[in-house]
Amino acid sequence: MKPFPELDPMQVPTTLFESWQTPPQADELRLIPIGGLGEFGMNAMVVHTAKSLFLVDCGQLFPSDDEPGIDSIVPDFAYLEPFADRIDAVLLTHGHEDHLGALPYFLERWPVPVYGTAFTLGLLESKMREFELDRKLLRKVSDFARIKIGCGEIEAEWIPVTHSIPDACAIALHTPQGVIVHSGDFKLDPTPTDGRLTGVKRLKALGDTGVSALLADSTNVMKPGHTPSEESCREGLRQAFRQTKGKLFIAMFSSNIHRIQTLLDLAYEEDRKVVILGRSLDRNVGVARELKHLMLPDDLFIQPNEASLFKPNKILVLCTGSQGEEMSAMARLLRREVKGLKFAPGDRLVLSSRSIPGNEVSISRMLDAAARQGVETANEELGPIHASGHGQRDEAAEFIRLLRPRTMVPIHGNFRNLQAHGRIAESLGWPKERVLLIEGGECLQFFGKAEPRLAGSVPVGKCFVDQGVSHRVDARVVHDRLILQEDGIVIATVLVDPITGELAGDPTILTRGFVVLSDDESYGELLRGAVRKAFEDAPPEIRKNRDLLIELLRQTLRRIIRKTTETRPMVVPMILEASAG
Ligand SMILES: [Zn+2]
Ligand SMILES: [Zn+2]
Repeated sequence: MKPFPELDPMQVPTTLFESWQTPPQADELRLIPIGGLGEFGMNAMVVHTAKSLFLVDCGQLFPSDDEPGIDSIVPDFAYLEPFADRIDAVLLTHGHEDHLGALPYFLERWPVPVYGTAFTLGLLESKMREFELDRKLLRKVSDFARIKIGCGEIEAEWIPVTHSIPDACAIALHTPQGVIVHSGDFKLDPTPTDGRLTGVKRLKALGDTGVSALLADSTNVMKPGHTPSEESCREGLRQAFRQTKGKLFIAMFSSNIHRIQTLLDLAYEEDRKVVILGRSLDRNVGVARELKHLMLPDDLFIQPNEASLFKPNKILVLCTGSQGEEMSAMARLLRREVKGLKFAPGDRLVLSSRSIPGNEVSISRMLDAAARQGVETANEELGPIHASGHGQRDEAAEFIRLLRPRTMVPIHGNFRNLQAHGRIAESLGWPKERVLLIEGGECLQFFGKAEPRLAGSVPVGKCFVDQGVSHRVDARVVHDRLILQEDGIVIATVLVDPITGELAGDPTILTRGFVVLSDDESYGELLRGAVRKAFEDAPPEIRKNRDLLIELLRQTLRRIIRKTTETRPMVVPMILEASAG
């Protein structure tokens, strides 16, 4: 059986930050990642002083297979509760879901100003409309803008970085405790599609005047060398256009506007009309066009039902679903549910994205389904068709050299990524004590300009969101779903005569998803007999107490089921009152 999702058996316990509920002292600054360290996603960092309290990013985590029925996972904001009336703002580095996806839940509770660049807020706006949140909270910042947050004690500066989404930034915090730089997600791309380069000069200038701490993206630090430029996948994708006799389908992340621009350029040059499929893709292309992040002739686009008016080799379809998601445009295409647009022999499917760890099975299933419909899915010959948005080892090193922080704190990634990133700093001459490996909830405490220290952990955790039900789902619900998924359910019904207090009939056993079926008479008799005996042997004080009686029957059934089948289904005893006969 899988472990209870909230209790990670691999987690090393850390010491508690005893006075976390007391406000910081006059010269104290607390830096607390409440997500995104020791895991991929759910990036959120608390910055807290006596006068200021704000978040840098507020992301969500996409659930894995051991969180059935959960749509998204957001950070537990327990740390903020004692200071609920003091929260100033949320600062955003960029528009990816793992950096802003939890904001609607946060803003419902704390409607505070949200600062971000134009494209970041453009994506956020439609989300806020969906959640009926006040869009007046949004504060647009431009590249290199320096803005007072809250009472003005701390100023935040947005410095452009190259990444797989427009308008991504690093944020430099000018605090009384020194300059703290948060890299956001970045690569150092010398030839970005939109020509917006990383603000290397400004980063270096910050390094020259002194940086207290650098918090930097560790996503790709296990890979040696330099991440290829976005420009590098143009030729591979062009080959896809040229070597495809039928329709060309390209699945990708809907926020990767640079990739979309490259593909639209190619569609124009190689004479194919473009169909956009998928709600988020449609929405993001709309936002990007409005903000002039996409340049293209208007007559390039057609509707899906117009595709049949053109020869197959004149069609490019951009769609969502590169991870094999069940609700995506790609899944609808594979089920042949898109009117006027069907897969046919001669067509090609290209996934111009990385596969997020954990999605391999659904991606492979999707490619299989496409191949079965005659679609070409082998694209290894084409050349590069995807470039990552995260810098590799050389870029991580370059970033550290530019900023020369007094303390280096790797962020974004599982523990091994953080460790590898720390080793890069050490290889550049940073002594071990100036490289701090912290994980979710660990508080880094700065006093004046002194070296920061680890104060211990504050409460953190995950909140589960099931959109079909309500916003938040208790972790116990996820736990129950796992048990049902693994071993099924056994329901035992006991009829008790209210007058005599004795059994009014034979107990009944009903099972679903359990290894032994309800209609297996001899096994049913074994369980029924065990229930009957447990009831009859129960002392009067337990029989009189409904809760205790249910617990007794549950334990009895669990024990016998574990012994006979080695499984642990969910056991639900029910006690009904009924007169004998
Ligand atoms: Zn990210
Ligand atoms: Zn990102």
